[in-house]
Amino acid sequence: MNETTTDAPRDSGMRPTPPPPPLVPLATLIGREIRSEKVERPIVRYGHAGLAKRGEDLFLIKTDCQRIPGNPSSSFSVFAIFDGHNGVSAAVFTRDNLLEHVMSAIPQGIGREEWLQALPRALVAGFVKTDINFQRKGEASGTTATFVVVDGWTVTVASVGDSRCILDSQGGEVSLLTVDHRLEENEEERQRVTASGGEVGRLNLCGGQEVGPLRCWPGGLCLSRSIGDMDVGEFIVPVPHVKQIKLSNAGGRLIIASDGIWDTLSSEMAAESCRGLPAELAAKLVVKEALRTSGLKDDTTCLVVDIIPSDHSVMQPTPKKMQNKLTSLLFGNRSQNSANKMTKLSSVGAVEELFEEGSAMLAERLGTDFPLKTSSGHYRCAICQVEQAPNEGISVNAGPYFSPSSKPWEGPFLCAECRAKKDAMEGKRPGTAQRAT
Ligand SMILES: [Zn+2]
Repeated sequence: MNETTTDAPRDSGMRPTPPPPPLVPLATLIGREIRSEKVERPIVRYGHAGLAKRGEDLFLIKTDCQRIPGNPSSSFSVFAIFDGHNGVSAAVFTRDNLLEHVMSAIPQGIGREEWLQALPRALVAGFVKTDINFQRKGEASGTTATFVVVDGWTVTVASVGDSRCILDSQGGEVSLLTVDHRLEENEEERQRVTASGGEVGRLNLCGGQEVGPLRCWPGGLCLSRSIGDMDVGEFIVPVPHVKQIKLSNAGGRLIIASDGIWDTLSSEMAAESCRGLPAELAAKLVVKEALRTSGLKDDTTCLVVDIIPSDHSVMQPTPKKMQNKLTSLLFGNRSQNSANKMTKLSSVGAVEELFEEGSAMLAERLGTDFPLKTSSGHYRCAICQVEQAPNEGISVNAGPYFSPSSKPWEGPFLCAECRAKKDAMEGKRPGTAQRAT
């Protein structure tokens, strides 16, 4: 047999003359190769370093996750940092449950591309579900969460709070993949908190003197988003900023760290302090650099994740010389145009920005095409995945912004508890979160 047999029309004995192969410009061929999933998956190397002062920084490294259970070729990695406050309980709970909550919000049996597209929405659902479940425990503790999923060349970062993730192209460009949810520095978040019924101000000493950073009252938290924190207002929300990028096949380095690093080092300083060194050593050097500058003032945790082009023969850590050679090929300017969030790969060697959204409004984050009805005729809650009869829940879009007669099937469905949480976060319901009975 030969290849032409399979190309012939099935119902015809005639063999058409194949057209001559078209001439393809080299640039098109290169473009095809870059877009093709056949490009070798990268090697992921990582390092961790940290020093505890209060013991409320936790982290998660999991490199054996699988999109399809039992299928090693569907593997992906998770790297995360949880900087707890007011006790370590929320950080422990989030470390132990967040990944599962995110995964449970991704539809089963979908392909890799669809899975990656579903991930940003699943991250929103997983963060909110983790917050609701932790608050059920009735413990007063909160945590930041910076949660990074690495699948091939695609990096998806979801975060609440002020633990940053940066991307170092090693060619010199450093970019922030997270947003700092700090009231002091984030005007947009101050407006949102105030509009939802919170008060933003500094700590007031007896003499009327204002000290320290801007905080939200009641509670006095400096962060505008977190998981947990049931003793502060509901406008301190667990809805993450999510950014998804695709690296060029030259790779890149992620540095994920708690504010113990970022209060001392700028993103550029952190990247420069360890550039060109293997990930394990790099993480130690970033921590050392932060301590050298200001001493141990806070819990300090750093993860360094290198996404390196695979080398068939060499599975050793990329030697320095090789790394320098590679980094010279790294990506050019990242698109800064936030209005165009679906920027496509524009040139060879650029980082492709696939998705970015930071709104705290669930109606905007869960979309309108969420799979609703289950085979049993029930609706699945877009946040907690519980299945309920249509009359037990309500559409995320129902309410004052839309027609009061909105039906559950118009947009994502929320169970009563998740709907109550949503309203509370948006300042539409007085009092604290409704807890399960
Ligand atoms: Zn629910």
